[in-house]
Parts: sequence; C-alpha cells; structure tokens
Amino acid sequence: MKVLVKFYFCFFFLALSYPAYSGGDHHAPTKSFKSTALTESVYLLRGKGGNILLVKGEQGLVMVDADYKEMSEALVFVLAEHGGVQTVTYLINTHWHGDHTQGNELIGRHAQIVAHDNVRTRLLTRQEIKLFNMVSEPYPEHALPSLTYSKDLSLFINGETFEIVHFPNGHTDGDSVVFLKEANLVHMGDHFFSGMFPFVDLDNGGDVLQMADNIAAVLTRIDDDTIVVPGHGQLADKSELANFHEMLLGTIDEVKAMAAQGMTVAEMQEEGLSLDWEEWANGLIPAEAWIAIIARSLQGE
Ligand SMILES: [Zn+2]
Repeated sequence: MKVLVKFYFCFFFLALSYPAYSGGDHHAPTKSFKSTALTESVYLLRGKGGNILLVKGEQGLVMVDADYKEMSEALVFVLAEHGGVQTVTYLINTHWHGDHTQGNELIGRHAQIVAHDNVRTRLLTRQEIKLFNMVSEPYPEHALPSLTYSKDLSLFINGETFEIVHFPNGHTDGDSVVFLKEANLVHMGDHFFSGMFPFVDLDNGGDVLQMADNIAAVLTRIDDDTIVVPGHGQLADKSELANFHEMLLGTIDEVKAMAAQGMTVAEMQEEGLSLDWEEWANGLIPAEAWIAIIARSLQGE
C-alpha cells in the first residue's frame, strides 16, 4: 500500500505541475510564441504546449501541431506575419494530446487536419490521462482530423515532400513522425523530449521499449545535417536524438536490473538512477516519475 501511495503522490505532483509547464526558462510568461526561422520557408513556433512547425509557400501554410486552445489568440497573431490564419491549408497532428491538438478548433475552420486513424478515433470520444488528472472532451466535427491514414502518407505541397509515418505504440497509439525531405528536417512529435525524461502515455497505447525501438528506426532515416524538432524542448540534431535514445536504453536497463532484484517501485525510486542521467531529470518528468513509468511499462510486457 505504501508503494501505491508514493506512486500516486508522485503523479499528483505531476498533475499540478503539468498544466503550468511553459518550457520553464525557455519562454516569456506572457502568451506568445517564440518564432525561429529554420530555413527560408520553415519556422519553429514555441509556445506553451508542443512545438509547432510552420512551412510557408505559394500554396499556403502547412502546420505541424497546434498547441493549447489558450494559445490560439497568440497563434492568430504570429500567423498574421506569415499570411494569416486563413491561409493555412493543412494541419498535421502528431498525436491526440491537447497540448498538440486543442488549436484544431481554430485551425480546423480553415485547413484540412491530417493525423493517424487512432487520433480521430480518440478525439471523437472523451479521453483521459490519469497521471495528469486530465480529461479531454469530444472535439467538434471541424476540429477533428478529416484525413486519416494507417501506415504512412505523403503530402506534396510548396515544393516540399512531407512523409508522415506512423510509429506504433511509442508515446501513444497514434503517433506520427513527420519527415520534410527537401528541408532535411524531422518533427518527432512526443517521441522526443529534447534533453529531458519523456512522458510516455501507457494508458493510451504508449510503451517505453517500443518507443526506444521507434527512435532507433528514425535514426536510420536521418543524417548529421537533419534538423530534429522535438515535441517538447530545444531544437536538436541527430546526435542529440541518439543521446536521448541512449538514455532510454540506459535507464530501462537500470530499472530492469532493480526489478530483477525484486525491488518495489518505491524502493527503486529510493535507490534512484545512476548519476549518468542526472541532467535529464530537470525537465517535465522528474527521475522518480520516469522510474515509475519504465517499471509500469515493463510490467505490461
Ligand atoms: Zn503528448
């Protein structure tokens, strides 16, 4: 029982801290987007939720992810510099979580929304993330993905090739990784939290080991010049994604070793991870929570 108490206390703490997450030191406290030009036509917009990618061209704007609803006013403001919200033609959702899709309600009035089949299925009904004490009510028709796919989908627009690829059961059960061929860029969605332990949504199809496998597969598809956009955190490159992958494997091994000694989750949290991973604990997910996520994911195997 003591284990359970500690386990849930840990996530209660997260429930409190998650809505307040604003990238910590990375952002001004006001509701605005920090816009960074990655190429002549590709911009990174960092607001409160997941990182947004904006691709400009004569055929209109293409967006990857749309942040929280409370950021929609700021989104209209920043899009005005790039032709206006009414010029968005496609919005790709990397997965269903609200910090990536609540902006659908705004953008869906203008653009076609593209996502994996399971994203539409989930957004049609009430969803829950128990760990964060978060509920998502069904989305209105215009805010749902209207174009869905099961394995992969190519989108040709503005002289760019978007390869939208489903990597199953990583962060959720409906994750897309979006490759921009000409720009040599990849938007990882929440398969990648740059420089920090990730959240893995075990209740909604996520799996820690599968997530590591998926990242290994992405690493074979990109090169040293590829711009790597994480779902959360700072812009990265292939070596930083490889470090994240190493961290996943290393911490999974440590939790496996502790589990093999018969330790409870509370005992594992007491013992902690090795100092190798200390700096990864300073983001959204503290080490205790990461240990619990790995332990629970391994138990589900
Ligand atoms: Zn997410």
